[in-house]
Amino acid sequence: MVLTTKEFREDFSKTFEGLYAFDLSEASPIQYYTALGNYLKVYSADNWSHTNQAYLEHQVKQVYYFSMEFLPGRMLKSNLLNLGILDTVRDGLREMGLDFEVIARAEVDPALGNGGLGRLASCFMDSIASLGIPGNGNGIRYRYGLFQQKFVDGYQVELPENWLRDGNVWEVRKENKAVMVRFGGQAILSEDPDGRLKPIYSQTQNILAVPYDTGMIGYQNEVVNNLRLWSAEIPPEEEIHYHTIADREKVNQITEVLYPDDSNYEGQILRLRQEYFFTSAGVQSIVRYYKQMVLTWQHFPDKVAIHINDTHPALCIPELMRILLDEEGLSWEQAWEITQKTMSYTNHTILQEAMEKWPVRMVQELVPRIYQIIEEINQRHIDKKLPLYTPELTYRTTIIADGNVKMAHLAIIGSHSVNGVAKLHTEILMHEVLRDFYQMYPAKFNNKTNGITQRRWLHLANEGLTKLIDNKIGTAWKTNPSELKLFKSFANNEDTLAQLAEIKLENKKQFAAYAEKEMGIELDPTALFDVQIKRLHAYKRQLLNALHILDRYLKIKDDPDLDIQPRVFIFGAKAAPSYVYAKQIIKLINTIADMVNNDPAIGNKIKVVFVENYGVSLAELIIPAAEVSEQISLAGKEASGTSNMKLMLNGALTVATLDGANVEIRDFVGEDNIFLFGLNDQEVYAFYENGTYHSRDIYDSNPRLQRVLNTFIDGTIPGIETEGRVIFDSLVQYNDEYFVLKDFESYVEVQEKVDQLYQDPMAWNQKSLLNIASSGPFSADFTIKRYAEEIWKTDSQLPAIQQYIHLTEPI
Ligand SMILES: *Cc1c(COP(=O)(O)O)cnc(C)c1O
Repeated sequence: MVLTTKEFREDFSKTFEGLYAFDLSEASPIQYYTALGNYLKVYSADNWSHTNQAYLEHQVKQVYYFSMEFLPGRMLKSNLLNLGILDTVRDGLREMGLDFEVIARAEVDPALGNGGLGRLASCFMDSIASLGIPGNGNGIRYRYGLFQQKFVDGYQVELPENWLRDGNVWEVRKENKAVMVRFGGQAILSEDPDGRLKPIYSQTQNILAVPYDTGMIGYQNEVVNNLRLWSAEIPPEEEIHYHTIADREKVNQITEVLYPDDSNYEGQILRLRQEYFFTSAGVQSIVRYYKQMVLTWQHFPDKVAIHINDTHPALCIPELMRILLDEEGLSWEQAWEITQKTMSYTNHTILQEAMEKWPVRMVQELVPRIYQIIEEINQRHIDKKLPLYTPELTYRTTIIADGNVKMAHLAIIGSHSVNGVAKLHTEILMHEVLRDFYQMYPAKFNNKTNGITQRRWLHLANEGLTKLIDNKIGTAWKTNPSELKLFKSFANNEDTLAQLAEIKLENKKQFAAYAEKEMGIELDPTALFDVQIKRLHAYKRQLLNALHILDRYLKIKDDPDLDIQPRVFIFGAKAAPSYVYAKQIIKLINTIADMVNNDPAIGNKIKVVFVENYGVSLAELIIPAAEVSEQISLAGKEASGTSNMKLMLNGALTVATLDGANVEIRDFVGEDNIFLFGLNDQEVYAFYENGTYHSRDIYDSNPRLQRVLNTFIDGTIPGIETEGRVIFDSLVQYNDEYFVLKDFESYVEVQEKVDQLYQDPMAWNQKSLLNIASSGPFSADFTIKRYAEEIWKTDSQLPAIQQYIHLTEPI
């Protein structure tokens, strides 16, 4: 059943006329896009329902990936690619005189996540479907995504992101699958006729959770899985209780807006409300589905795996307990065994300030029955562990302590698996951050290094490179990314290296056109493109990058005839609105950009481009154009990183500390093909332990660095008096928490090596090729295979699904 362009054009025209009741010759890009989305929904509908039926009929084990954030990016192209009709549709549209790229850009990029965590969840959805694993996403349908970022006078300004303004063609509202979520009131335990304790609820606030489902289309394998996002509504039968607009607003608020704190946690009751809302709704709908199969409760973990992405969904644990105990009448022991066997948890951070905890009073007030269950879990944990360990150790692992509920402790105790997201990160969890738990439950701990989908990040984002790779090694890498290593055999092929360079140059021109059009900055596409794109956070050290730029700037100012490799420094980063220091760094970099870009003495030797509103779509434009990937977090702070993987896959050379997955990048690509610098995590820990770091000594003893730092406060950078002083003081007076000054010297040294290598294009391109060819292991396909085999115990159902489809197809 191959779609022809002719069939496509006919069906598309019909869809369009059905939607808009006019001829499609003079519509807007949004209208074309909407019609195309609707067309695809119909096109893939059979696969979606067949996948569902196959899962139900075979009673296969399914995984439910609970995540507070999903960051899918635009879905049109990726759906077309995965359905195998990208070229047909593109050609068909061209035959109708329509520009596919313009139509594709009309789609809003839904920013329902902050950064890496949400993007990981979406890469996982793509891989789960592409591998044919029965898997579902579960999250929140935020009315407003992460704020839209604008720069006004160099400062970040946040505007609301109304991503639903033009509707969302991909979602299907499923009112018939709505469930009720209860908040507040009282839960009084009373004995029922069988002598069991059951809670009697009074004065609760009941919220209707309505699911919106989106098909997660597998790569050319006829699988369509489900992403279910929940929206909060007033239950129709309770309309009468909501008299005032304020009352009604309170309900809508639950799913109104995505919290813009990336890893700095803000203690907000609304956030806790959101967390319980989507976990309760999700777990209830899983239980309802399970009951359709009419199996005994012991088999629940054989059919259901629930994965907790970071601690935000950790209330899944007491919620499943609540349902099994209160509604299904299981004993505590039965319910606990089922719950632990069902749950698994991924830890994403070792930053202390990002470890979620909630005041006991808040939890008690918001979800009283859930709090009772957490208390019981806590007490039983203590009773069980006290005889086995020292009281100190046991009490360090309690869920409730100092008037707070510690979500990570709940997640670890309630799960059968706890994983970190890169080798180094997992080591740090086991031996530093969570060592008490590692002592208690060594078998729970395991590593699952993050990954990215090569389909979005190479195939779609970089079609030029995809074509080259296809020509050289065939197309099998799209489903088996380890095949990318075959590309290594072209590392000495001058022709291939020249083609690689040509593709890179073309991508750089594309980005240059964007910078010119959107920002009025003219770039020389032959300059070296150096990229740091990620959330703005002190530990990620955008500041170190800025110091390097200023160091170069001063060098050129001293000697305007200096023969130096021209570089374009590209930044993309949002800062949490409440994260003042991060916003000051944005202002600093924007001001440096203004100064440098407009200094005739500098010319093209340095350009600084800080793009506004960094997100998935901009990443897809920037990454293919990148030559240097800046992965310069303080060692021991970045859990994994995934932009490091995307950039490597697109042929950028990595400048890195040995942090997160950079360690594994080094292992795969080899020491010679990566630029390492700076302290390692052990050295950082030694400094912490001994208290021997004194940033002022470095400032005093390094004149080159001193001169750079002084530009913050001596008027060299105009208009930066306030921010410059704060940042200077943080580095020099307040001992530089993230060792920026300590790593400066080795950073600028390694950057000189980058310049030197760039003078030899063939040598550079060879390393670029080796990076591409070594990046296969970072495909999320492998990461997901390991989750499925080692944690979830879910099997690929490709044969069953495909057989099902062929059985039900009309002959
Ligand atoms: C991949 C990605 C991230 C994660 O970047 P890190 O450098 O790993 O922090 C954040 N935001 C977007 C839009 C991404 O695509």
